Amino acid sequence: MSNLTFASLALPSALVENLTGLGYTEMTPIQAASLPKVLEGIDVIGQGKTGSGKTAAFGLGILAKLEVKRFRVQSLVLCPTRELADQVAKEIRKLGRSIHNIKVLTLCGGVPFGPQLGSLEHGAHIIVGTPGRVEEHLAKGSLKLDDLTTLVLDEADRMLEMGFQPTLDAIMAYTPVERQTLLFSATYPKQIQAMAERLMKNPELIQVESSH
Ligand code: ADP
Ligand code: MG
Repeated sequence: MSNLTFASLALPSALVENLTGLGYTEMTPIQAASLPKVLEGIDVIGQGKTGSGKTAAFGLGILAKLEVKRFRVQSLVLCPTRELADQVAKEIRKLGRSIHNIKVLTLCGGVPFGPQLGSLEHGAHIIVGTPGRVEEHLAKGSLKLDDLTTLVLDEADRMLEMGFQPTLDAIMAYTPVERQTLLFSATYPKQIQAMAERLMKNPELIQVESSH
């Protein structure tokens, strides 16, 4: 029991208190298995079905190491669709609401480009976006990832199904070599293994079948 509590982790107390306020009393199995590794800073592949709590598994890792005073993009989360990116951004904001002045920005396709340029000029700590639009901003120079410490590929199986592999590879070229890469997926097909081998450093594979 006690080893399933968030308080047992190396998390800043403000984050733990906020989790209690949100009613997150115990970690889900994928969180219990992956969060200690994520917090160690190593690369992690987390496989668990929809609803198993994967967002907090990487979201708390991002928030725990964020340096709010350094107003640079430190984390990038890539999601297959705008709806999923919006959900992830909402969850990260909720998890991080006890951290003052934290800026989470979404960059998705299907919405006008101009306002995103304005938002990027104001700066952000965490970007959550879809691959196509993120690559466009990188190519234009409106998004810079020189200070990136964490890269997350969320719903990686769906991103590959949607044909985003070349776009993901292009985005990788803009990220620092010294980064933590986290990959979360509902399934773990061969193509994901191949991608992980190319883009990750000795990743720890964590597979949780049940959601509770
Ligand atoms: P997944 O990405 O694996 O599909 P989500 O991260 O979207 O799952 O989480 C599913 C739901 O469970 C969300 O509503 C989230 O707020 C909630 N949740 C996640 N972790 C916990 C927890 N430890 N305690 C209670 N609720 C949680
Ligand atoms: Mg998810």
